[in-house]
Order: sequence, then structure tokens, then C-alpha cells
Amino acid sequence: MHRLARSFVLTALAACCSAAFAATPADQVPHGRLPRWAQPQSYQLAFKVDPAQKDFTGTTVIKVDLKQAADHLWINGHDLNVSKVTVTDANGTQHDGKYAVVALQEGVARVDFGSVLHPQALTIALEFSAPLNQQLQGLYKVSHAGTPYAMTQMEPISARFAFPGFDEPDFKTPYDITLTIPSDLTAVANTKQISETAAGDRWKTLSFARTQPLPTYLVAFAVGPWDIVNGPDIAPSEYRSDVLPLRGIAAHGEGHRLQHVLSETPSIIHTLENYYGFGYPFGKLDLLAAPDFSAGAMENPGLVTFRDWLLLLDPDSPAKYVRGSFNVTAHELAHQWTGDTVTLAWWDDLWLNEAFATWMQQKVTMKVHPEYRADLDRITTAEDAMENDSLVSARKIRQPITGNGDIETAFDSITYRKGAAVLGMFEGYVGEGTFQQGMRAYIQQHKFGNATADDLIDAIATAAKQGDAFKHAFDSFLNQAGVPYVQTRLEQKNGKTVLHLSQNRYLPAGSTGDAARVWGVPVCVRYGTAEGSKVSCEMLDKASDTMTLEGASTPTWIMPNANSRGYYRFSLAKPEWNALTQHVAALADTEQLAYADGIDAGFRHGDLNAADALAALKPLAGASTREVVVAPLGTVNWIYRHEAATDAQRAVIVKWVKDAYLPRVMQLGYHRKAGEPDGDSLLRAALVHALALDFKLPEVRAELLKQGDVALVKKADGHLDLAAADADLLGDALAVAVQEHGKPALDALIAELPQTTDPAQRNAMLAGLAAADTPELANQARDFALSKQVKVGEMAAILRGGRDTPAAREALWQWFTGHYDQVLGRTGSFASGVLPKLVGGGSCSTAEADRLQAYFKPRLKDITGADRGLAQTREQTLLCAALKAKQNPAMLLR
Ligand SMILES: [Zn+2]
Repeated sequence: MHRLARSFVLTALAACCSAAFAATPADQVPHGRLPRWAQPQSYQLAFKVDPAQKDFTGTTVIKVDLKQAADHLWINGHDLNVSKVTVTDANGTQHDGKYAVVALQEGVARVDFGSVLHPQALTIALEFSAPLNQQLQGLYKVSHAGTPYAMTQMEPISARFAFPGFDEPDFKTPYDITLTIPSDLTAVANTKQISETAAGDRWKTLSFARTQPLPTYLVAFAVGPWDIVNGPDIAPSEYRSDVLPLRGIAAHGEGHRLQHVLSETPSIIHTLENYYGFGYPFGKLDLLAAPDFSAGAMENPGLVTFRDWLLLLDPDSPAKYVRGSFNVTAHELAHQWTGDTVTLAWWDDLWLNEAFATWMQQKVTMKVHPEYRADLDRITTAEDAMENDSLVSARKIRQPITGNGDIETAFDSITYRKGAAVLGMFEGYVGEGTFQQGMRAYIQQHKFGNATADDLIDAIATAAKQGDAFKHAFDSFLNQAGVPYVQTRLEQKNGKTVLHLSQNRYLPAGSTGDAARVWGVPVCVRYGTAEGSKVSCEMLDKASDTMTLEGASTPTWIMPNANSRGYYRFSLAKPEWNALTQHVAALADTEQLAYADGIDAGFRHGDLNAADALAALKPLAGASTREVVVAPLGTVNWIYRHEAATDAQRAVIVKWVKDAYLPRVMQLGYHRKAGEPDGDSLLRAALVHALALDFKLPEVRAELLKQGDVALVKKADGHLDLAAADADLLGDALAVAVQEHGKPALDALIAELPQTTDPAQRNAMLAGLAAADTPELANQARDFALSKQVKVGEMAAILRGGRDTPAAREALWQWFTGHYDQVLGRTGSFASGVLPKLVGGGSCSTAEADRLQAYFKPRLKDITGADRGLAQTREQTLLCAALKAKQNPAMLLR
């Protein structure tokens, strides 16, 4: 789509200016992409930053290729006070320019040259000052243990808060960055520091090496009293001749906790270089633990930034943090190739960055830490994306960008998780080696430049010697929303077993969507025969087709998604479901996950009632693989929360859960054993959380309360004894303590949080605060979330609590609508697209859907990207209400 839009602009300009010589393009304020008749060639960025101040100053010098006569150009800038503009023409003559904001909310400005200039190379210098941002975007201010730091987060369109520029991803140019900072601080940037000079009494100026061509969104630097620790150097490789220096950076006093992640990093880099056949090209690598951060991490080349808990690890850190650290590091480092070396041409192709980094992370993890089972992560995260993809309001992977809101909302599970699953599916279809050849060619062809979906698909198709049918199949997943629903029917015909396949869009009960839709789906079916199981595959690219199951006069069972490689949901006729349930314990764990998804799909589609779903899911709870053991919990929790209406009905569900899981919890115990596999720690944490907090089993709560009580004891130094609880269970232990003890426990956490810098302990305390389950206590926690003691990036963790029951949601609603301006003020206009979900998530009635709509509709104009969040939260609420209305809870008591 963007190619069409772009050529339209060029054609329109050509028409305007060839008819008669026009002194300047007769153009309008660009509300979307900037025109291409002025293109940046390089930047010199100079900043003067003291994190202790409110503001910073800077000078941006941009070499611009002016491609046609004009007396102005358009540029991005947001919240910048530009005091001086100098335009130097190709002859060296200086002109005083003028900067005027023309679209305040979007951050678009006009730079006037003072006269018409012919096409030529210009140098535009802009001097400006701006506030250090308080909402984690652009160049922003954070504090750690009371000490201020300044750092950047530019993606997707926040570079315009830090400096005036052409803030779009296909304007890739080199940057020369200099930072003038207080003499006692340090600073880091994308590239190595090359000089330091004194700049008066109190200041010094640091210069950094010229970068590779980068888009604005990848520019990064940070200023403060950082700890900088050296990691192991990364040895040269077949694809890189120089040693790659590796460092970790953290707030003062935290640097010693970076060693674990640094020790893991070389193997990640080597794995990526070997896959792509292309050496890491950015000269040095720093990993920085941000004291406060809006996303999880950011792939800035040479200076990757993370939420601090992903990097700061101790020997007893929660297992999910240790794994999360590895996975997120692998994701960000994968971006150094897909994203940083080859960059998306426009935001509609964000999947070229994010789907690839997600898919590649899973590959790296499978290679370096096979015990983490990233193959199962790919399946469970794809199933998570399918839930969103079942909404009529779901995005496409390549959703057209109609405004800045579409850029903000592109960072969703469709782009990341559906995108990764679709890549994995087509990789399986052409073969891993062939796919790799295509990827290597793609990186070589577009290195240090930009690419589109067509470039990628062409590279894969060429490597695989595939034609238009393959491209259409790939396109069918990129350019239309939804999950294929593959329905199967067996037939005996002329002594052969024929499987009838049909497809349409999966839509849950109550959906208003149109199910008629066709994809090119690589379908693989596993089936049981007398000689063991066999697999049969085909490209299903029509509404219906048939497949002959060879060697099976009567198959004993069929699994319509072999190896769970396909991005689709399936349904079976009742006898086939029964046969598969009989056989489920013998399936591979990958296929057990597809089975669990099939049951959930049938339940939400209205084909299976709750009692049938519970019976079909029961065999999974006893599986040996953690991901399979917990797979039923989502469906069972829905039935418990929304269907079971009486104590007797709830007791049926609690009994199911207790039978299924309590013996496993007893066997694992409530404390990590010395040397136990981290999978056991993760299973313990997942089951204990579900049993104690979702299903409220008294015996599990009592064990957690014991741990919560010891954690809340004040030590001699005045701090709570948080390390006394099991590290994996601390958050849940504090949650139960808050629910059982009420105000004294809540007050203790509110007093302790400001005195704790350890991010894992802070997160556990936030979980405790979020668990407050009376309106008064929940409101006390929410009021606290608005204070400076809670970081901006932590606030949602508290506000998200208390949505389990209609009464709790009512209390949250009253508080939220009474404090809307304060919440918005901390969140900022760009991150506020999540607000409808924050307050409306988990709702399940038409009345809740209506009040959400009525409240946000008039506010949408002020909160970028919230329209999609509103539509999706409203649709989920209505679907939940429709599914609830369809149930017959009395059936649970049969
Ligand atoms: Zn990413």
C-alpha cells in the first residue's frame, strides 16, 4: 500500500511542476509521510544535557538534498523551542530561516528559507531547547535512588521530541553525535566515544564515532553517573574480522549484577552471525539497564536499552526473569540484522522488524538453551495472538497506516506473535535450509538500506524456487486479518480414506464478523495407522479440498495440525474428537498444545459446552511438559469466572482444579530446591498463582500467607525481609498477605517501595499492591500509583489489578473516571492508547461495553491510537457476554 501512496505523491508533484515552472511546490501541510523532494543525507547532533535540570539544549545540522526549487521544507519536531535557523546553500551563502509548528499534535513544522532556492545540497542548522520528557519518550528524565539520569527512547516517532529531523524510517543517514554534559557524569551513545574535551569549569564535551546509516528511531544516548562494566570480548568470526567489545551499563551501584547477561551475549551474537552469514556491523555493543522504561527493550544499534529487571540478575532471581532476560536479549540482538541493518521502509511493514526478531529469538534460544523449549513458546504465543486475531477489530500483519495512531498500535501481538508464527509456518513449508538461504540473500541485498514485504517474499520465493501461488499464500496471511478455521471430515471412498478439508474465518460465538475468507494455508495432518503415525501435507488455498490419507484403511485418530506448525485453528466431528482425546497422552507435546487450542476454539465457538471442555482438557493436566500442564487454565478460569454462578457450580470447578493440580504442587513444594531445573520453578510459580489467586484454594493460600508473613517482618535495618520468601513466589505471597491482612500489609508495602531499588522486589511489591481486593484498599493502592514513588513504567501494574469480579470492576471504573486526567498526565498522549483496555479489560456485559464506549468516544481525539484499543476491548466484552449468555451452568452439576 505504501508504494502506491508514495508514487502518487511523486506523480502529483511532477504534474504540478512540469506544466509550468513553480517557484515552490504548491503543497499542503503533510499529515502523514513527509514529501520526498527534500531528503536528509547526514546529521550532526549536538546536545547539552544535565539530567538534574528541567530542560536541555541542542543543535541539529542536517545536510539536505533539495530535489526541486522551494522556499521551505517540512520537518518533524515536537515540544521543541527552535530559536535560530540557518540555511547554508551550496555556495556557502547563509540565509536566516524560520521554524514554525504547523501540526502541533503530530509534531510537524515548516522551515522557511527566506527565498526560493533551486535544487541543490543545503545545510540546515537548527538551535533549540526542550524539556527533558517526563513520559519516557524522546530524551527523557528518570531517577534511580533519588539521582537523575537522562536517556532516549525514539521508536516509533519520538525522536521529534529530542531533535528536529525527518522522523521516518526510510530516511537512513549517518549521524555524528556530541554530548556536552556535567564533568562528573558519563555518557554513552550508539558508537564508540572518540574524544573528550573540557568545556568550561563544570562541563565536558564527548564526541562519538560516525554511525552507520540509521533511521531517526534508532538514535540513542544516555547521560548520568552510570556504572559501566566490561563483559567478555566477543571473538572474531568467519563473518567479522575485529573483536567486538561488549559492556553492560546500569544505574550507579547496580553494575555488578550485569555479569550473567553479559556472559550469555557472545553465544547469541555468534548464533546470529552464523545464521545470517553476516557479521555484526555496529563496532561495539553496550547493554543498558534503564531505571524506567516504556517498552520491554529497544534494539538501538550498539546501545541496546532494557527495562532494568531484564538485565539485573542475581543467583536467586526468579526463573522467569532469567529466561526473560535471555529471550529479550536474543530478540533485541536479532534486530541488529532485521531492523537495524535492514530497516522497514514504512511502518506498515513493522512485522519485518518485529515478527523476524520474535521468530529469530526463538531460533537462537532453541540453539543456545534447548531446555527453554522456545518451540513451545512459539506455539503458545501464536495461540495467544489467535485470540486477538479472532476479533473483527483485529489488525492485519500489514495494516495500512492512516495516522500516527496506527503507528503506535502496530506494536501488538499480531505483528510480533502472529507474524512469527506465519514465518515459522512458511519456513516449515519450504524447509529451514532453503528459508535461511532466502534470508541471507535478503540481508545482502538490502544491507544498510530499507526493505518491504515484497522484497522479503521475493527473496524466500527465489531461494525456494516457488512462484506466484506461494507468494499469494504468504500474502494472504500478511494482508488479511483473522485466523483460518480448518474443518475436517473423514470419508471412506473406494477403499481409500479421504479427508475433506474446508476453511473459513474463525469467529467466536456472538461475533458479528463475516466468516467467508480464504487463505493459502499449508495444512499438515497427522493420523494414526496400524504401523504408527503418518503425516500428510497440502497447500489448502480454496474454500474446500480433499486429501487422501495414504496407508490408513481406517485411521485410528487424526490431528489436523501436525507439529503445531500451522497458524490455524481446527475442528473435528464428535467421533474424531473422542478418538483424539483417547490418544492425546501419546501425542508429542507440540501437538498436545494444538489439541488444547482446538478444545478452547470449540468452546468459544459454541460447539462444546463447558462440561465437555473440562473433560477433554483433564488429561493434559497430568502431562510431563510444563506448557501442556498449564494449557487448560485459560479456558477453565473463564468458566470459573463467567459461567459458574452459584457456590455449588464454583465448587465443581475448584474440585476439577484441585484434582488436576494440587498433587503436582505438593510434589514440587513451596520453595525452590537446590539445583532444581528452572522449569520446575516456573511450573511451581504458575500453578501456585492459579490455585491461590484465581481459584482461591485455601490450602495453597495458607502456604503463601506463611511466606508473605515472614517477608513482611521488619528487619533490624528497617527494611522488610523480602528475601525470606521464595523468589519465584514473592509477588503472590505478598498478594495473599494483602488480601488476608488488609491495610497493615498494604501500608507496609507502600512504605517499603520507595526504599527499594531491586527491580524484581519492586515488581513483587507491585503485584501485592495490585491484589488489594476491597474498594477502599484498591483505591489507596491506585492513589499511590499516581505518586512519584511509583515509576511511570510501573503504574499500569497496579492499575491493572482488581478486575476479576463485577464489583471490583465497578470500583476500578469509579476511581479511573475520577482520576482520568492524572492517569493521562503520567502516561502521555502516545502511550495512552492502552487506557481503554487498562480500565475495561476483563469486562463481560453489554452495560460495561456501552459505558466504555460512551466514556472514551469523546476523548479519542486527544489520545493517539486509543480508537483501536477501544474497539477491541469493547468487542471482547461483548463476545464474553455473548458466550456467557450461551452457557447453561446447570450442566456443570450433572
Ligand atoms: Zn522488537
